[in-house]
Amino acid sequence: MSDPLDRRDELERTLELAAAEACAYLTGVGSDLVQPPGSAELLAGVGGELPRHGEGAPAAITELARLAREAATRSGGPRFFHFVTGGATPAALAADWLTSTLDQNVVAWVSSPLGTRLEQVAIDWLRQLFRLPEEFDGVLVTGGTMANFTCLAAAREWCAERAGFSGAEDGLAGSPQIPVLTSGYVHASAMKSLALLGIGRANVRRLARDARGRLDLGALADGLASLDGGPAIVIANAGEVNAGDFDPIDQMADLAERYGAWLHVDGAFGLFARVSPRSQALAAGSERASSVSADGHKWLNVPYDCGFAFIRDDRWRRGSFTEQADYLPPLDSPRPVFSYQAPESSRRARALAVWATLRAYGAEGYRAMVERHLDVAAHLASRVDAEPAFELLAEAPLNIVCFRWRPPGVPEEELDALNTQLGEALLEDGRVFAGTTMFEGRVAFRPAIANWQTREGDVDVLVDVLTELGERLLEGRPVESLEGP
Ligand SMILES: *Cc1c(COP(=O)(O)O)cnc(C)c1O
Repeated sequence: MSDPLDRRDELERTLELAAAEACAYLTGVGSDLVQPPGSAELLAGVGGELPRHGEGAPAAITELARLAREAATRSGGPRFFHFVTGGATPAALAADWLTSTLDQNVVAWVSSPLGTRLEQVAIDWLRQLFRLPEEFDGVLVTGGTMANFTCLAAAREWCAERAGFSGAEDGLAGSPQIPVLTSGYVHASAMKSLALLGIGRANVRRLARDARGRLDLGALADGLASLDGGPAIVIANAGEVNAGDFDPIDQMADLAERYGAWLHVDGAFGLFARVSPRSQALAAGSERASSVSADGHKWLNVPYDCGFAFIRDDRWRRGSFTEQADYLPPLDSPRPVFSYQAPESSRRARALAVWATLRAYGAEGYRAMVERHLDVAAHLASRVDAEPAFELLAEAPLNIVCFRWRPPGVPEEELDALNTQLGEALLEDGRVFAGTTMFEGRVAFRPAIANWQTREGDVDVLVDVLTELGERLLEGRPVESLEGP
């Protein structure tokens, strides 16, 4: 029989199997190829007809572990520099196992006092870690996108009230537009959030003064002045994804105060600059915002998925997210109801991993990790700068290094195509992963360092592998293209 109830004696054996496989996987995660060769073919063969009779848990988990060994992207390892990707600290990972074991539903206190209390503590510890004032409180969500969404939903309700309506109650049809002003650094997920909130992507004014997207502060002042005291949302970007640069948050806070706008800071990874005295000035002014968002599964190194939304004024924490039904707690429940502050209703106990990693390593542990990453990024920037075949394209103030391959003798107009090819070759090779982007109109690499295990030697591998693959690419090129047409 394959009824799970009839197979419940498999439980212990299956968990032991999973633990053994997890340990083996994690032992190799630093030295295995980031993407094992042949994984696409292997994965294409998975699927087919739904099994009629199950084979039981040990067989299913054994098969899953084989697929993991042969096809999992080692993105939790120290040589994955694509996107902005963290790993999972041992404390966070073990807590995440227990999260699934306990299977708490953190709708409200009544469904999980443990999950609710640890979420309160986790949010408060994060607030302290990021040196945000005590008025800030918040909620855990699935990531930076939902953290932006949650904060911008509060901003929408704040703007709507000042314009005489409620977005959550009345909807936005027929209402005045809510102006959104930001720099060219605005993240794609903030745009997605504004689309979901009915504010609309096309309604965002990106006030950039150059091709990089840096804020035109004068245009922001003029834009806010032209609203004649009407409400607006200003989005400041703490950590932009191409080079880890920051908007001038303090100056934006001055303008938001002067003209009465809601200032939201998207600090998905950049908020972690505040964890070290060496980098905290970059994100100065975040403490003056109305809302601040950040990611847990990036630099905090807890497993997917985790983000946090901080909102300063308690009045705006719930607006769009309350829900009423006879079986749910009343809105004025004396106990916390996190589902009234978040997009999700049933909610995973994400707080357990956050709590455990902060309990295990503390503020000083996170400071040490962030400072190591600052050093690793600086080391990578100086190596790239010293190599004649590479060109550093921007200063690296935080944990992202933006550069391109520029072998001597290759004309400028061929560099974009070459860097694109080199980027593809790097992913194909699999020893180390980094992605490409467009920086000031040029194809560039933008490795981001956010994994707790990453050390200097790992970024040396990146430079060495790029050099080796680049030389191979040049060897394969027809000679006439080297000399021009
Ligand atoms: C990654 C990122 C986000 C989105 O976060 P997800 O966790 O991917 O949803 C938002 N803003 C910035 C600046 C980011 O780097």
